[in-house]
Amino acid sequence: MGRVTSLDDLPLRDDLRGLTPYGAPQAPLPVALNVNENTHPVPEEVAGQIADEISRALREINRYPDREFTELREGFADYLGHGLDASQIWAGNGSNEVLQHILQAFGGPGRTAFGFAPTYSMYPLLAQGTGASWKAGHREADYTITPDDAAAQVEAADPDVIMLCTPNNPTGTPMGLDVIEAVYEASRGVVIVDEAYQEFAPHDAPSALTLLEGRPRLAVSRTMSKAFAFAGARVGYLAADPAFIDALRLVRLPYHLSALTQAAAMAALRHAPTMLRMVDEIVEQRDRISATLEALDYTPHESWANFVLFGGVADPKAVWQGLYDKGVLIRDVGIPGHLRVSAGTESETTAFLEALASLGDAPSVGSKA
Ligand SMILES: *Cc1c(COP(=O)(O)O)cnc(C)c1O
Repeated sequence: MGRVTSLDDLPLRDDLRGLTPYGAPQAPLPVALNVNENTHPVPEEVAGQIADEISRALREINRYPDREFTELREGFADYLGHGLDASQIWAGNGSNEVLQHILQAFGGPGRTAFGFAPTYSMYPLLAQGTGASWKAGHREADYTITPDDAAAQVEAADPDVIMLCTPNNPTGTPMGLDVIEAVYEASRGVVIVDEAYQEFAPHDAPSALTLLEGRPRLAVSRTMSKAFAFAGARVGYLAADPAFIDALRLVRLPYHLSALTQAAAMAALRHAPTMLRMVDEIVEQRDRISATLEALDYTPHESWANFVLFGGVADPKAVWQGLYDKGVLIRDVGIPGHLRVSAGTESETTAFLEALASLGDAPSVGSKA
């Protein structure tokens, strides 16, 4: 029997030819600080309750789950506050699926999606996968962007879907609400504010949720993957106008959220304060990373997330490999002279900082030589 040896032998969609899939390395290293996970496990007392809920759901697993995941939507509305109710909430298997639903409903062939680069690497992949083309705007050297500049770029690009990531991955940069308002005013497409890392921002930092009222083309997405330490459960969600939610119902697969996922997410949400109790500790480690990198003469960028992007790396590939060889996995996000590291537990963070210092790549080492 003949063997398929390459994608070229298959009748693949022309617009997918030559693309490479998302591929952050999943290496079994002792210290994994490369995909911005919460490296603290789910607290033991909550883990037990989640297991109980999953076990209850299992007794009825012969039936399809609640297609509208009503109870879970109510739970997210309560958690988010701002007067939201279940009719304004959507959820999916990770916020990546929620974003895919948005692109399926509002993007698609012949349409364009837009974001200010560098930003989340999945946006172009999700756009391409759903047939839309991706247009990248730009930021200042420090990765901020002014309202006027943002509005001018959006007006020029005239996109159907706009992805605003704040705090931005991979840079950590917050985006002011004035920028989001300006982009909304300058656009005709849907505007998605991806707040995957919002819980790590300063407690008094306003969320784009405060802008939803009167803006039916605006949506704010969140995830349980980061602050909630729930990446493996795959739960993401979004708040928007009820009509926006109706649009997403047109493209989702029926029963897309399994009964087990719904049960686990609801149990975790009921214990939100316990689930989120490591956030302040992670923020402390993030700030410790920034301070130590600065002392080593690297240039960490301001971060409101659970990771730090730092410049001044003479040879990012060599440093990445050097850390890897010492059992520490971080991320080369492809920005020249830069690497990104997630804030881990105190001991993981120490392992990273010590391994990095021992590599002798730091600008301070060079300048003192
Ligand atoms: C990690 C991350 C997400 C979360 O993705 P999930 O599919 O919910 O795990 C979303 N947006 C950004 C910018 C992220 O960094």
